[in-house]
Amino acid sequence: MNVSRFLPYGRQSIDKDDIEAVAAVLASDYLTTGPTVQRFEAALAAAIGASCVVAVSSGTAALHAACAAAGVSEGDQVIVPAVSFPATANCARFLNAEPVFADVDPDTGLLLPEELERLIGPATRAVLPVHLAGTAVDLSAIRASAEQAGIKVIEDASHALGARYEASAIGAGNGGTDMATFSFHPVKAITTGEGGAIAVNDVELWRRLLAFRNHGIVRDSERLEYESPGPWYYEQQELGYNLRMSDIQAALGLSQLRKLEGFVARRRALAARYDALLEELPIRPVTRPEHRSDSAYHLYSVLMDFEEIGVRRADLMDRLRERGVGTQVHYIPLPMHPYYRARGWSVEKFPGAQRYYRRTLSLPLFPGMNDSDVDVVVENLQQVLVELGAG
Ligand SMILES: *Cc1c(COP(=O)(O)O)cnc(C)c1O
Repeated sequence: MNVSRFLPYGRQSIDKDDIEAVAAVLASDYLTTGPTVQRFEAALAAAIGASCVVAVSSGTAALHAACAAAGVSEGDQVIVPAVSFPATANCARFLNAEPVFADVDPDTGLLLPEELERLIGPATRAVLPVHLAGTAVDLSAIRASAEQAGIKVIEDASHALGARYEASAIGAGNGGTDMATFSFHPVKAITTGEGGAIAVNDVELWRRLLAFRNHGIVRDSERLEYESPGPWYYEQQELGYNLRMSDIQAALGLSQLRKLEGFVARRRALAARYDALLEELPIRPVTRPEHRSDSAYHLYSVLMDFEEIGVRRADLMDRLRERGVGTQVHYIPLPMHPYYRARGWSVEKFPGAQRYYRRTLSLPLFPGMNDSDVDVVVENLQQVLVELGAG
C-alpha cells in the first residue's frame, strides 16, 4: 500500500485563519513584544489554569529563564532525566551549573522518582522532570522529594501542552511545582514557528522571568534601586538576555491555541487506532503509566526488541522512509553525547535509558493525519518487518 504523501513523525497544522491572524499583525503598529504577546500570555494562562505565563523566543529560552529565575547558578546541580532533548540539560550549563542525569524507567522513558531521591545532594538546586511524549511523570512522588529537600521543580512540559495530571492541566502548578516550560516548535502541540513559554504561579518568580527575558531591565517604580530622575528611566539590575517573543509569533500562537483541544483529541484518537492495530505485531506502544493523568500524545513512540526479532532499526527506518513513512528516535540518551561524555558522563551507568533507547521508535502522529494514514503506516511496518525477516 502506498502513502499518497510523505508522513513525517510530526508536523504543524496551519489553516487559513492562522495565516490571516499573522497577516493582521504585520499590518498593525506592533511587530515585536506588544499587545498580542500579552493576549497570548493571558489566553495560555487561562487555558492551562496558571496564574501567569511569560512568552519567550523558544522552549530552550523558557528552560534557560526558568532555571535563572529559580536561582540556578555556578556550582549548582540540576537533576535531569537521562532521556530527553539536549536543551533540558543545556539550560543548567548556560548558567554554569551542572546537570546530574537520573535514570529512567525502561518502558516509559520517564524519570524514576527513586533516582531523584538518591541523587539529591547539598548542591542540588532544582529538578527538571520531562513529560516525555506528553505523558506526565509521577509528579506527586517528585514533588514530595523536592519539597523535603527544598529544591525547585521545573517541569519541562515541551511535550505536554494539553496533558492533564490529576484534576488539572500540566502547567497549572499541580499544587507544588514551581514552573512549567513549553515549546511551540512546529512539531509540538501548537506552534509559533519558534517560541516558548513559562507557566508560573509565584509573583516573585514571574517578575524575575520578565526581567530575564528583557536584558535584566526593571521599570516598575516600586522596584527601582535608585530614585527615578524622569520618565525615561529604567535599571538593568541583573544580567538578562533578549528572549522576547514577537507579536507576529504570538498572533500565530493565539490562533493555534483556539484549536488545542481539537488537536489533542485528534492525537488521542489516532493513538488509540495505532494501539489497536499494533496488537497484531511484535511491537508495543510505549507504556503510558496511569498516574491519574491523560497524555497529550506529542509522540506516538513504540518499543520493539530489535535484537530479539533480528532487525536493524536503521534498516527499518530506511525502508519505511522509501515507502513515505517518516520515523524518528526520541531520544539519544544525554550522557552519550560527546559534549557530556567530555564532562565525565557515560551511558553505562543508565541501564534504564539504554534499554529504552535500544527499543524505541516514534511513528507519524500529527493532527492532520487521517485514520487511513495510521492504517497505511501499520501496514507498511508489517510488510517491512516481513521483508527484513523479522523473527
Ligand atoms: C522541543 C523541546 C525543547 C526545546 O524547545 P525549542 O522550542 O526547540 O527550543 C526542550 N525540551 C524538550 C523535551 C523538547 O522536546
